[in-house]
Amino acid sequence: MGELVATNIAKTFNGKKILAGLSFTVKEGEFVTILGPSGSGKSTLFHLIGGMLQPDDGTFILDQEEITGKRGAISYTPQSPSLLPWRTVLKNVVLGSEISGEVDNDKARYMLGKAGLQGYEHAYPHQLSGGMRQRVAFVRALLSPQKFICLDEPFSALDEFTRLEMQQWLLKIWEENKKSILFVTHNIEEALYLSDRILVLSKKPATIVEEYMLPFARPRDQNLFLTDEFLQWKREIYQALQGSL
Ligand code: ADP
Ligand code: MG
Repeated sequence: MGELVATNIAKTFNGKKILAGLSFTVKEGEFVTILGPSGSGKSTLFHLIGGMLQPDDGTFILDQEEITGKRGAISYTPQSPSLLPWRTVLKNVVLGSEISGEVDNDKARYMLGKAGLQGYEHAYPHQLSGGMRQRVAFVRALLSPQKFICLDEPFSALDEFTRLEMQQWLLKIWEENKKSILFVTHNIEEALYLSDRILVLSKKPATIVEEYMLPFARPRDQNLFLTDEFLQWKREIYQALQGSL
């Protein structure tokens, strides 16, 4: 469960073509990253997958069922996480499971602990740092019943150290849960470090110009950043991005 097939997705805003026929597949339990510059249409793609927007053309199929234009089929964490300010951390992370009627407070506490948020269960979002709020949004996505998670540049607003910590944490927790993840970033290193596969977007109107299967073994740690293999990949993908702009 958790296989997404996107076929020929197209979207135009005010006569300007943003996405020009994107096709890709994310397999069950896979971590796929879409890499593209700012303004290339990454968030638009996520709004389309999440059903907040309707594509002009194309379909999304999740586990053999068409979900084009439907909300609630996938779990979506927007670029700045929208926690409910009047709900505690614990009440925020069980939101998705509340809707489906299967709240598991013990699991929620366990996951918050894993996210380094023990002791904050009854705090409110405004009492947390940006990194902590981001972790709360992840825990909510992981606890939601959907098998497919979309993460839109979740670390782009964080400082370098917090970002590294969060990437490490995300990998650990993903390896335990194995939900399918579609991740969006403009950061090449982040894409290389996290993903099984990278899809490179072209300039506007966006299509997928390159696809890379990454050979790095898991579990991964930050030593990977310094290996020759990693640096070679970084160079290759940098050149692919330059060529596509
Ligand atoms: P990215 O997430 O890759 O930075 P976006 O998907 O946010 O890019 O935006 C892609 C392009 O689509 C931008 O030029 C943006 O101005 C335009 N755009 C996004 N949403 C809308 C909208 N609702 N109406 C009109 N234009 C939009
Ligand atoms: Mg965006």
